Amino acid sequence: QSVEDTLLTTIRTIPDYPKPGILFRDITTLLGNARAFRRAVDELVHPYAGSKIDKIAGIEARGFILGGAIAHQLSAGFVPIRKKGKLPHDTVRVAYSLEYGVDEMEMHRDAVSPGEKVILVDDLIATGGTAEGAVKLLRQMGADIVAACFVIDLPDLGGRKKLEALDVDVRTLVA
Ligand code: 5GP
Repeated sequence: QSVEDTLLTTIRTIPDYPKPGILFRDITTLLGNARAFRRAVDELVHPYAGSKIDKIAGIEARGFILGGAIAHQLSAGFVPIRKKGKLPHDTVRVAYSLEYGVDEMEMHRDAVSPGEKVILVDDLIATGGTAEGAVKLLRQMGADIVAACFVIDLPDLGGRKKLEALDVDVRTLVA
């Protein structure tokens, strides 16, 4: 079975969540399947094995689960990017666009040093608004973004193109 098939069969699709008309990709079933979780992490890190990565930046909340495992695998540190108001020390903050409206996300100011090699991680990229915000925060602190990794791409929503236009390498496993 191909990686894409292994992963696709473990991702559950929930109609009308969180709102009518939305097909939500639920990855809790993938995470709960030992083989699929391991496979997803292995595949995401594969191109970077052996290269020096300083930090994995994970986007709250599902990006923490994948990002923690990826950080361990690449012997990198982990940096949480969180919704505003959750981090206790000095932060940098950025507004980012959601499907309807905007929100703000934050990162600790001292979480990344200039020139550090960082991989950004989340479970899914849709419009790319969330990942774009994270890229801005990381670059504001001088990070060198090696790649942005996602298990799922929803290509019709244009997120990959948005990140590529910012000169970010995008890696996704299933569409
Ligand atoms: P974007 O900003 O690219 O439009 O949306 C991506 C963000 O929303 C990610 O943080 C992702 O976790 C979340 N998201 C949006 N749609 C889905 C979905 O169908 N399934 C999951 N698991 N997350 C989603």
